[in-house]
Amino acid sequence: METTTKTKIKVDYDSIIIGAGFSGLAMLHHLRKLNFKSLIIEAGSGVGGTWYWNTYPGARTDSEFYYYSFSFSKEVREEWSWKERYPAQPEVLEYLKFVSKRLDLEKDIKFNTKVLGANFDEVNEIWRVKLSDGSELTTKYFISCMGVLSAAIYPKIPGIDKFKGESYHTSEWPRDRQVDLKGKRVGLIGLGASGVQIVPVIAPIVKDLYVFQRTPNYVVASTNLKVDDNWMKQVRENYDALHRQAEKHGFAVPFYKPTVGAKDVSPQEREEIFEKGWLEGGFHFMLECFNDLATNEESNQYASDFIRKKIRETVKDPVKAELLCPKDYPFNGKRPPGGHGYYEAYNNDHVHLIDVKSTPISEITEKGIKVGNQEYELDVIIYATGFDAMTGQLTRIDIKGRKGELLRDHWSDGLKTNLGLSVNGFPNFFMVLGPQTPYANLPIAIQKGVSWIQNAIKHAESNNAYAIESERSADLEWAKEVYRAGSSTIMSKGELGNAWFLGANLDGKNREFNVYMGGADVYFDKCDRVEEDKYPGWELIKN
Ligand code: NAP
Repeated sequence: METTTKTKIKVDYDSIIIGAGFSGLAMLHHLRKLNFKSLIIEAGSGVGGTWYWNTYPGARTDSEFYYYSFSFSKEVREEWSWKERYPAQPEVLEYLKFVSKRLDLEKDIKFNTKVLGANFDEVNEIWRVKLSDGSELTTKYFISCMGVLSAAIYPKIPGIDKFKGESYHTSEWPRDRQVDLKGKRVGLIGLGASGVQIVPVIAPIVKDLYVFQRTPNYVVASTNLKVDDNWMKQVRENYDALHRQAEKHGFAVPFYKPTVGAKDVSPQEREEIFEKGWLEGGFHFMLECFNDLATNEESNQYASDFIRKKIRETVKDPVKAELLCPKDYPFNGKRPPGGHGYYEAYNNDHVHLIDVKSTPISEITEKGIKVGNQEYELDVIIYATGFDAMTGQLTRIDIKGRKGELLRDHWSDGLKTNLGLSVNGFPNFFMVLGPQTPYANLPIAIQKGVSWIQNAIKHAESNNAYAIESERSADLEWAKEVYRAGSSTIMSKGELGNAWFLGANLDGKNREFNVYMGGADVYFDKCDRVEEDKYPGWELIKN
């Protein structure tokens, strides 16, 4: 397909995509169906995105393999076999390398190159993309596939650059060498999903592990299993049905949907259902026990109490156990991590838990970490301190739309997007997993997103439009709906645990729902309807 540009200028590419993770690879494949000349710009030296960068010890999915993968390629589905129920980082990376190889994607990827910025040239209605190698490329369509958790943040602690030992952020873990933690004194700051995965994996290796905990998490045990041929065969035979089921679920997983609330059953029945969910583990506990754990405070309280009971039963030292029990925010108030022996690790005497909520870390010194007057001498500091989630990857570079307006300025008074896919004032710019897309299992959301973008572009091209642009009123309407949906969850109430999905993990960031809490199923339906109705809320710009 020959793309149409306003001034008939010859662009270098029909589409430029940033990022070669799940989203970028899928987007490239989908745009090839339009015979587009496309290029992915990737900062790393290989494909994988999140799974390329996050090589920290213990990194693995919190989702099970059969819905943490794509269904759009028959070849990939037939030929790839998963090994673990919750695949570890090397396995997911191998999967994405396989996807890339099998679909012959690498020839259209420029590695070791960053996008520094991009500006919309209003005269020609094309994008000019500036790269770290000094070059500038032109494209009609510019698509962000940068992931939702890719802009790392370090805590603002005085002296952070003074430490003479080794220090690593989980998402910037060395890839060219093994980090040797054997026999070392290691300090860990951060207990979200990343830190929680690290603790049990490095505890058996290190001399001492000092865990500096500000906010404890509700960690739900996940039982990992080997995937045998039989299980893989069953999944292969049902891939389409599983994915269809996932698209009808609020969290985009192929799970049973409970029909009762925790408050509506007897205490005994409640306990039995929670026990069953706990054994099934991970997101099953959060999503399959009851239908109101994210919306009803009383029901949520029962789930929160149940997890605290499990913590107290598992952790033998009562002081550590109490510290590990979240008390001032509800279950689901932060994204609950999956645990693989997390609480059990604290039964080792050399795993020390330091409460830095009551006395915050005062300083990082040459020798280690200082809390109040006590200095903990360390060989290694691990920062599992998270990301400028959902928006950071987009606002850290200069993306300029019409009249040179920067995307970060456009959002300075609040996020405004059309279904998290487009932004008014930024024509022919699309985002896969942009802010205000659902809080959900991502590969399913990505697959829906890339297919929607492919069809929207096809619609614009077949109408000889030189631009497709979201309407301001549609962005404002979606912002209203994101707010409405978020406000009806327990995530919006009371004291919360600095959740990234609220922008609350970063000083200076607006406190607002960065994700859509109204359900992935509802969101997918809305996207389908827009597609069927020929894109109301988007304007086709023609000569
Ligand atoms: P995170 O959930 O944002 O956690 C950051 C942690 O750093 C929090 O415990 C935070 O404490 C702590 N922290 C920040 N500054 C601190 C300070 N000055 N002193 C003490 N503690 C400090 O980040 P993450 O663990 O990287 O996870 C982010 C998201 O990535 C997850 O929610 C998940 O969606 C995704 N992820 C997924 C997987 C998976 O699926 N397998 C694995 C890893 C990550 P406070 O809570 O007190 O702010």
